[in-house]
Amino acid sequence: MASSSSSSSSSGTASPCGACRFLRRKCTHDCIFAPYFGSEQGPAKFAAIHKVFGASNVSKLLLQIPPHDRPEAVTTIAYEAQARIQDPVYGCVAHIFTLQQQVSIHDDTYPTLGLSRIYSTWVRTMCRWHSCKLN
Ligand SMILES: [Zn+2]
Repeated sequence: MASSSSSSSSSGTASPCGACRFLRRKCTHDCIFAPYFGSEQGPAKFAAIHKVFGASNVSKLLLQIPPHDRPEAVTTIAYEAQARIQDPVYGCVAHIFTLQQQVSIHDDTYPTLGLSRIYSTWVRTMCRWHSCKLN
């Protein structure tokens, strides 16, 4: 038996990731979801994403994104899915409008904070994942 594996403390290989656990499928070593959905809180997080976007759509999306951008994408997708379940009509757009109002109020009060700039960066990031052309 070749024992080239280095880590002794990890017990990861045996249990499926949160996504595969939710989908009741076998988790492979190259599973696209494994780095982002742990077996503990992953299933609940993935349930919302699967309900809103569908597991195969999300895996296709992640494959199109460079690996270093994927954690950010998963965070955004998870956020969007939660918002979409809470508010099926507007989803995170409702949050965006609320933030937009807050930003314009605070930007008048504290112009030096540059909240508008931070906000527009955030919207650009959101739009990148949604492939829309607001900016
Ligand atoms: Zn998996």
